[in-house]
This record gives sequence, C-alpha cells and structure tokens, in this order.
Amino acid sequence: MALPAEHAPVPAAAVRVLRDPAGTLAPAEALARLRSGDATADGALNAGITGDTFWAAMRLSNAEPERRTVVLAHDYAPTDRVALYGAEGMRLAGDGVPRADSTYPRRLANFPLTFDAGESRTILVELRSSANMNFAFSLWSPAAYARSEGIILAAYGFLFGALALTLLWLLYGVVLYRDRTALAMAVYLAAWGAYIGFLNGLFTGWLAPLSTSVLYYAHIATIGLLFGSGALFFRRFLQLAAFYPRADKGLRVLQWASFLAPTLFFLGLPAILVSSVFLLLTGVAPVFNSLFAAWLWGRRHPFAGVFTVGWAVAHGSALLNTLRIAGHLPPADWIVHLPAVGIVIALPCFAWGVARRLRKEHRLAFSDALTGLANRHRFEAVLDQELLRADRHGHSLALLLVDADHFKAVNDVHGHAVGDRVLAELGRVIGRCARRTDCAARIGGEEFALLLIDADRDGAMQVAERLRRSVEAELQAPAVTVSVGVAAHAPGAGTLQALRERADLALYAAKDAGRNRVVDAAALAPA
Ligand code: GH3
Ligand code: MG
Ligand code: MG
Repeated sequence: MALPAEHAPVPAAAVRVLRDPAGTLAPAEALARLRSGDATADGALNAGITGDTFWAAMRLSNAEPERRTVVLAHDYAPTDRVALYGAEGMRLAGDGVPRADSTYPRRLANFPLTFDAGESRTILVELRSSANMNFAFSLWSPAAYARSEGIILAAYGFLFGALALTLLWLLYGVVLYRDRTALAMAVYLAAWGAYIGFLNGLFTGWLAPLSTSVLYYAHIATIGLLFGSGALFFRRFLQLAAFYPRADKGLRVLQWASFLAPTLFFLGLPAILVSSVFLLLTGVAPVFNSLFAAWLWGRRHPFAGVFTVGWAVAHGSALLNTLRIAGHLPPADWIVHLPAVGIVIALPCFAWGVARRLRKEHRLAFSDALTGLANRHRFEAVLDQELLRADRHGHSLALLLVDADHFKAVNDVHGHAVGDRVLAELGRVIGRCARRTDCAARIGGEEFALLLIDADRDGAMQVAERLRRSVEAELQAPAVTVSVGVAAHAPGAGTLQALRERADLALYAAKDAGRNRVVDAAALAPA
C-alpha cells in the first residue's frame, strides 16, 4: 500500500494475518511464515473475542521522491498489547503496557514510521487481546493525526464534562429529595462514562500500571454495571413496580443477572458460552426493553415518550458495539464513537424526564390531585406558621371550615364520577374566594378549609357568606350546597388547637341548624 498524503485506512486486502494459538512464534519465524503465504486472514479485519496471539503484516511503500514520516495507528483501543517490529526495533503499546512507546496521546496504539524516498518495506505487528481482536490499521500524516486526535479528545472531554455536571445535578436530587430514581440514574450515567472510557482507551494512560487482567475485569465489570443499573433505572423511572409488577419482576431478574454476569469470566467457562450470555444481556435485553418502553409510550405512560427515545438511541449504539466486539460487524471507527453520540442525545432526554418527574412529585406532595388546592399536609404547615406570624405581628386571621351538604346523596344518585367532578368544581369556587396570601385546601373527602390572613370576624363572615352563595348559585346540576363554620383569631388570644375546635363546633352548629348556612363560632353559647 502506498503512503497516503493525509489519512487512509489500511484496507483488509493489504493486511495478512497469522494466528499463533500457542503464542510462541518468534517475529522472524512469524514473518517468514506470512511471507510464504501461510496466512489465516480471509480479508476480514475483525476476529471477534479470542485470547490468541496474532501476527499482522502489511507492505507499505513511499512512492514520493522524498523522505516521509507517517503514523500507523491500530484502530481498536482496548487491546492488551500491540508490538511493532521494524527497522527501528520493537515498539510496544496497548492497555496492558505500562509505558507505551506511542508518540501521540495514548487513546490508540500509534507509531511513527519513517520511509526513505521510494522505499518499500513490510511492517510486522504482534497483537494480543483478551477482548476483541481486530486488525484495523490506519495511516496518517503526523499533522493530520495530531489534529484528528485533538478533535476526538476535545469531544470526549466535552462529553465527560456534561456527564459530570449531570451527575452533580442528580446527586443534588438524591440528597435533597432522597430520590432513588436520581440515584439509579447517577449510577447508570457513571457506568456509561466508564464504558465509553474503556471502549475508547481514554483511561489507558492512567490505569496502565494495573495488570492486564485487572483492567480486563474492570472493563467487563463496567459492562455488567451499565446494563444492571440500566435495568434498575428503567424500573424506577417508569415506576414499573406500581403499574406493571410482572414486568418489574422480569426486569429485576435481568438487573441482577447483568450485575452478576461479569463473575462468569472468573469461572473459566468456554468463551462462546460467556460471550453468548453477554450478548443476550447487553444486546437482546435492551432491544426488548426499547420495545417495552415504546409500548408504554403507546399506552400514554406519562414519562415513556422521552425515555424511549433516550433509551433506544443509547442502547442501540451499545448493541452495535457489542456486535462489533463479537466480530459480527467490521471494525469501523464510527461504531466505536456511536455510544458517545448516543449518550449525548440520551442525556437531555433522561435529564428532562427526571426533572419533569421531580416537579410533578414535588407538586403532588403539597397539593390535592382532584382540586389542585393545597392538601391537608400543606394546610397544617401553613396554618401553624401563619398563626405564629399573626401573633408576632399582631394581625388577625380567620379559619373557615367548609363541608358539602348531604354529599353522600350526590354519589348515591349520580355516581362517584359526577361526585368527583362536583368536588373539583367546589374546589374552584372555594379557591376563587381566597386572596393570594390566603390558603385554600381540601382537607378531607368533601371537606375544605380556608385560612384568611389579616381578616377579622366581620371580614371572615362576609367571605364565608359570599362563598356559600357562590356555591349555591353555581353548582346547580346536581345542586350542591355547603355549610361553613367560621372562627376568628385575635392576635395572642388562644391556641391553634382552640381555633380549630371553635371552627369545628361552628360547622356542626351550621349542620344542626339545617345546613346551607354560615355560623360564627363567637355567636355560639359557650359550652
Ligand atoms: P353532611 O351534610 O352531614 O356533611 O352529609 P354528607 O353526606 O356530606 O356527609 P358524610 O360525611 O356522611 O359523607 C361524605 C361523603 O362524601 C361520603 C363519600 O361518598 C363522599 N366523598 C368523600 N370523598 C369523596 C371523593 O373523593 N369523591 C367522591 N365522589 N365522593 C367523596
Ligand atoms: Mg358533608
Ligand atoms: Mg364531611
């Protein structure tokens, strides 16, 4: 092959490959056998997962009338050892090599080669890998290689920055809301980062002092963690336990199978069995999950849409890589970078989904789902605080308890659905009677409360009467009325408990007196 001006992949036809299962051949012997045509390559550049040693030879020639230097790069980062034999002696690189002889940043094994004008020579490379074995090489001018690696490393720097920021944001959710979904997503994203880092050789420089087998198991464990935490995130994010308990159980099995799958590598099982299990967990399962998520989307699950897009993109790209690693796809460069693209697209989808969920849960924690008014929990907190504030600043407030009259009959005659609609309507009318600083709440089935800030007895009675009349006028089909008990609180006079009891007694009195009326606690004879 002639040296390219800028960049060219070395085509399959130009690479001859010899398998060395015992790993005992000397370089000269391997070269001699390759030269005599004793090659095992059939033009494919990807041998899949195999622990064997391989020798690859290619003949390169400098057609130019001047001396030239090119960079030969081996295009698959997680390779344990890449040894180049040539006029310059032996040079080493790879995951398992602590101090590589590569010139440029160590994402990939790379070696500059210098050719005299018109020179042709055979380059011999020895490759060992406990993961995927491929023989994809490319040739670059030094400037083009430095430029391309610079762009790739900057892009990955950007991606890891985005991942780190999202992780921080998620941890905020974990600490503040004790949100388990955010925790599952944080683990899942961290696993994506590790997976992408290993796939692209981004950790190689730092982790190289570790032994090859530690690195290898760390890489495998990362994949188990990615798919296990993926299943966990899937379950939690779509709240499967609550809505689809059977699917949740299935996914839980998948989750633990993925977490535990890396241990298969320690058991010395046949490689074909181990890689089949991995292919099943990392390939088939996410495809099934994508279809399941799409089905939930079709059934209008509130968060399934955005989730399905993110999940399918991210896991589709990982699946292509799994197929590549297993040797079913050629070692094209874009497949290796695809998971990074996938997660860049998926990240905003997931983050947006989590934000929407947190917001909805936050809202639900303080409000009543049917009427949108404050719920009892929220009302108690507001009441407590406003009473303290009123006493301290010396203004009055009033508590109105509102109860629908004979509401059971509405349900009995018109059904529960109509009852619910009437309650929502009632909530709207009551909410309208509250000022911005007041607090309207649904505190029981058909019981409401209105806390009026800075309102004295007369003011409170006016609001209560207006409320009663509005209900009477507006809720006609079916006709519904309310009884209201009013208790005013003068600053420093009486406790919260007493205020509540007085409002309650007033409400009972209104019911006793025939309903559809307002009773002021102060008008009752002392008990
Ligand atoms: P009273 O005038 O004495 O208050 O009579 P009532 O029928 O309103 O009072 P009771 O407390 O006996 O019954 C309240 C009814 O309110 C019982 C239940 O059917 C209905 N209810 C409570 N919560 C809901 C709800 O969320 N939706 C619907 N549709 N009905 C509810
Ligand atoms: Mg009632
Ligand atoms: Mg009631």
